Amino acid sequence: MNPFVYAGLPCRVVFGVGSLMQLPSEVERLGAGRVLILSTPEKSLNLQRVTEILGDRVAGVYDKAVMHVPLAIAEEARHLAQELGADCCVTVGGGSTTGLGKAIALTSDLPILAVPTTYAGSEMTPIYGLTDAGMKKTGRDARVLPKTVIYDPALTLTLPPALSAASGMNAIAHCAEALYAHDGNPIISMMAEEGIRALASALPTVVEDPANMEARSEALYGAWLAGITLGSAGVALHHKLCHVLGGTFNLPHAETHSIVLPHAMRYNRDAAPLAMARIARALGTEDAPTGLYDLEVKLGLTLALKDIGMTEEGLERAARIATDAPYPNPRAVEYDDTLALLRDAYEGQRPPK
Ligand code: NAD
Repeated sequence: MNPFVYAGLPCRVVFGVGSLMQLPSEVERLGAGRVLILSTPEKSLNLQRVTEILGDRVAGVYDKAVMHVPLAIAEEARHLAQELGADCCVTVGGGSTTGLGKAIALTSDLPILAVPTTYAGSEMTPIYGLTDAGMKKTGRDARVLPKTVIYDPALTLTLPPALSAASGMNAIAHCAEALYAHDGNPIISMMAEEGIRALASALPTVVEDPANMEARSEALYGAWLAGITLGSAGVALHHKLCHVLGGTFNLPHAETHSIVLPHAMRYNRDAAPLAMARIARALGTEDAPTGLYDLEVKLGLTLALKDIGMTEEGLERAARIATDAPYPNPRAVEYDDTLALLRDAYEGQRPPK
């Protein structure tokens, strides 16, 4: 066995259908009582329920969270938190909302209680991102890791099937890259394999029958595991490409992950055979990249970058940015090979076996 370092994340997790009702006691457990609630602008039932459950503990609501946390929005939210004398942020939503909570925590130490409603996994990571003048800066800081996370599968029932499937693939990407991470470890690998198994088995039912609570619970359980793997091990070429495509080309986050992943796995297949065998086992297939692609076809996912707004002219630039400062990756990251990967993802063809 290879030597490894393992550090558990100091985060309390409350999981289960109806666990949202524990929100007031979990806020009190943090010693807090003046809550700033964060969300995206859509008027959601989830936001309404959280506001009602917290009652007079709500100091205010800020509902302008958007993808990639623009600095101006972060500063407005920080200012509001200070003005209200908030002693806790409750984030209700996906990675964009959690990300805004992290931006506040980064400069104020305000504890975050996260209530995730997608499968993105940000709530389990000490990773933050902030975008200023079109440049996204990411970093790691222990202060931004939520103190408590409430996973209530009932809150995911409204997540549309197509977004559920894409967000689930985003979670599978965290697990896949943790399995071949340069700094992975056996505990994280176990979680990663189990995360892929849970998501891959639940997503077909989630798409067919979005109100199926058992499948929603299994998918959210997989997403939790995926978030831990993302927060605990480094990421590789796949995440680098998605950061470039999202940050520089403004492609949608979950869909980009979903489209690129089978091709990034194909790129690394021969360089990470043990990881690929575990991914394949978790997917119940013989070959990880094609097995994942076939699952995406079954889920009705968009398969080509050209169908989510990528331009053919942009491929060379994306390959250049991704290879100029690559993340550690099992196979050497070369410009020509990376460009070929991106061309395959652009066309959306099934990766060759
Ligand atoms: P998102 O948070 O932007 O949500 C996508 C859309 O879905 C939004 O319009 C939102 O209002 C809606 N939505 C969310 N939950 C819903 C529900 N249950 N029902 C109906 N609609 C719902 O998308 P995301 O994919 O969760 O997050 C993407 C962002 O998170 C990106 O900016 C990405 O960089 C970041 N992220 C960060 C980390 C990290 O560790 N820092 C990890 C993953 C993602």
